[in-house]
Amino acid sequence: MTRRTAAAVLTSTLARFLYAQPRRLPAHPRLLFSPAGVDRLKRRADAAPWAGPWRRLRGNIDRSLNEKIELPPRGGNWGHWYVCPKHGARLTTGKRIGPWQWEHICPVDGEILYGDASRPDRDFDGVTINNTHSRYAGAVRDAGILFQLTGQSQYANRAREILLAYAGRYLSYPLHNIQGQAKLGGARMSPQTLDEAGLLIPMAQGADLIWEALPASERDTMATQFFLPAARDVILPHHMGITTFSAGNTRRWGSPASCWAMTRSSMPPSTTPRRATARKCLRAFSRTASGSKAPGDITSTR
Ligand SMILES: [Zn+2]
Repeated sequence: MTRRTAAAVLTSTLARFLYAQPRRLPAHPRLLFSPAGVDRLKRRADAAPWAGPWRRLRGNIDRSLNEKIELPPRGGNWGHWYVCPKHGARLTTGKRIGPWQWEHICPVDGEILYGDASRPDRDFDGVTINNTHSRYAGAVRDAGILFQLTGQSQYANRAREILLAYAGRYLSYPLHNIQGQAKLGGARMSPQTLDEAGLLIPMAQGADLIWEALPASERDTMATQFFLPAARDVILPHHMGITTFSAGNTRRWGSPASCWAMTRSSMPPSTTPRRATARKCLRAFSRTASGSKAPGDITSTR
């Protein structure tokens, strides 16, 4: 073996070894806020113009703390179906008339419409269910922010309970698209991968904000029963590249969930961020989960 060949073999071997090593990641929180960002937010929270929004955020979460967490029995449907078939006008949600059933009201003539889950385009209850998933996703993020700002455990606990509820339920939600079909491009909590990413982003941000307050077993549950199956089995297999929505959010928030959203693309190839970046984010997230699979396993189905 010549020196040049030996050097090449050594370099190749080292490269594989180095690549396999976990990368050093910043401390939590590191998605929506860094620790320095949390400190800045603390200083601003009580002063104008932040004081009003801060009080509203805290009031909303405080009012929900004692509410029972009741996840919908199924994933939601497409928001664009929520229109009157006669007038094309956006419906408003009326009173609840049964378990996960509501009246849906046309603003043109006041007609009360009822959902029909057997027809995707009339599954008005499914749209309202999607809104419920969205509210829970936002609550995880907001409770996480409040935990970071106040240090009060009830906020971390609220985010934790919602995330554990989803970890216990997520895989039971059937894959479905806007036509109710179990096809690629559909999702579990919502009917599209883009919508699913829109739910996963605030949930990942909230999880990051409370991560250090969680026992390792619960981190593992959230990662292996919720975040990783969502990323690996729902988001990543859908090869569409980047939408302006997800690319914008990725730049703004820089979260793993944003990276999952990066796989949705309608932009020209020249502007498409590399899928490797999304994979890198997923590997980073997996390493935070105690006992989760090795980073490479997450994308091994790809
Ligand atoms: Zn109408």
